[in-house]
Amino acid sequence: MVFARFCTFIITIILVTSCSEQDLANIKLVAHLKKYDQAKEMMIERNYHQSNPISREEWEQQFVMDQSDQFTPIEIGLLKENQKLIIEQSKRAATRNSVIDLDPLRDDQTALAEFCYSIPKGGMLHVHPYGLFTREIVTKILTKYNPVIEPEYFITTVKNQGQVLYDHEIEALRSLPESSPFLSLNDADKSLFIDFFFLPTEPASHDFTRFDAIFAFVIWMVEDEFLDEKMEMLYLDFLGRAADHGVSYIEFTNGFPPTVERIEKLTDWSSKFFDETGVVVRWNLGQLRFLPGSNNAEYIKKWNALLVENPTDAIVGVDLYAIERGNPALEKAQASYGYLAGYNREHPDHPLEMTMHAGEMGDPRNVRDAMIMGVSRVGHGVLLQDDLITLEYARNLKPGIEMNINSNHQLSVHDKTKQPHPFLKFLRLGIPVSLSTDNDGIFDTNRSKECIAAVSTTDVTYAELQALSYNSLSTSFASPKTKDILTNRLRQSFSLFEQRYLN
Ligand SMILES: [Zn+2]
Repeated sequence: MVFARFCTFIITIILVTSCSEQDLANIKLVAHLKKYDQAKEMMIERNYHQSNPISREEWEQQFVMDQSDQFTPIEIGLLKENQKLIIEQSKRAATRNSVIDLDPLRDDQTALAEFCYSIPKGGMLHVHPYGLFTREIVTKILTKYNPVIEPEYFITTVKNQGQVLYDHEIEALRSLPESSPFLSLNDADKSLFIDFFFLPTEPASHDFTRFDAIFAFVIWMVEDEFLDEKMEMLYLDFLGRAADHGVSYIEFTNGFPPTVERIEKLTDWSSKFFDETGVVVRWNLGQLRFLPGSNNAEYIKKWNALLVENPTDAIVGVDLYAIERGNPALEKAQASYGYLAGYNREHPDHPLEMTMHAGEMGDPRNVRDAMIMGVSRVGHGVLLQDDLITLEYARNLKPGIEMNINSNHQLSVHDKTKQPHPFLKFLRLGIPVSLSTDNDGIFDTNRSKECIAAVSTTDVTYAELQALSYNSLSTSFASPKTKDILTNRLRQSFSLFEQRYLN
């Protein structure tokens, strides 16, 4: 009896201590996140009102905490513990809400492929047109336009752009004739050349610079007076296949010249593609992150002004892409994103939403900075898993995260066979993640294969797969009306799918 009373006393003491430590950790967290909000004001002030970009030193100074607000290791442990708890609770709730048990599918590749092909997908928010070429389309374009192939051109271009081809690949390229029209090559040489539009399957993962080299071939193939004709062939081929896999909405990211003619072209394409494939297509204006930040700011300001004068439903947002390593968000994006954040705040009817590739590789602070710059979505976001405070910020802000499991696997960003991909952790923390493919053709993937990767390498539940599909519409940049229509359609598709699957 005495012993029992003593224990109760001890437990009370422990509870009181840990509760107050948790409170203190939460108070400090609020102080940290307040710094992020203050940084947001500074971002807009300096880039929208003053056109006076913030130096890195000044920026990092924004996030330095007073001694009294710094976390102790115990408090960091408590924050992590709290996240773990939320993840566990979400997982239990998702299991309860799942009308289909995925466990029997995880080791049954045939049944899983059939399931993933049939499950309704919603949208794909992270798709680059130049990464969509299949062997068939490359062959079709090269056959139709019969360009002259000069291997040394590719070897020099790739080298000058800091991209990489493996030694044996350079040797193989050099085995082709010095200069020859495509159609004059023999079948083996044609096939050898077409291989360069894709990633080698050996090794399984590559550095970004090897991936990047593919675009030297793609740009050479498509960028001439027949660009639109070739791209239209590509879009229709891709969208037809996407529709077949149950995708109803696509956002493409690509660079386009800021002209009224381009607005008309993209608007016409959206309507034509919907008529022919049933997929709703929207466009994000891509900024290349290796260009100077001021160039991208000019580009975005021009586009924004043009769209204010010539509104269209088809063009919906901006994105920042290409190699993240060496091109941090603050230095490369504040002039355009900071400007747009200020503009959008003052103009509720603004034409452009914001997403940004961040947290794929490179500076781990990019996801933090992208969110502070006002993005409502993040592309990739993998490195967010290592930044506890920014992850807490994301739990509050709830940006969409466009995740691409097979792209990450092939570009050495995340090995899906070694650890569960962080899409599920983020989702269970309440962040509206969606799945996409990045570059279907180059990575030999599609939205169904991303589903296969998710189910076979994590303990994701059916309710969570559904959430991924719904998130791909709710975090899209489509108009509220389009979102409503597509969401209702998705709901009906799920009902039909479940009826068929369970009977
Ligand atoms: Zn991408």
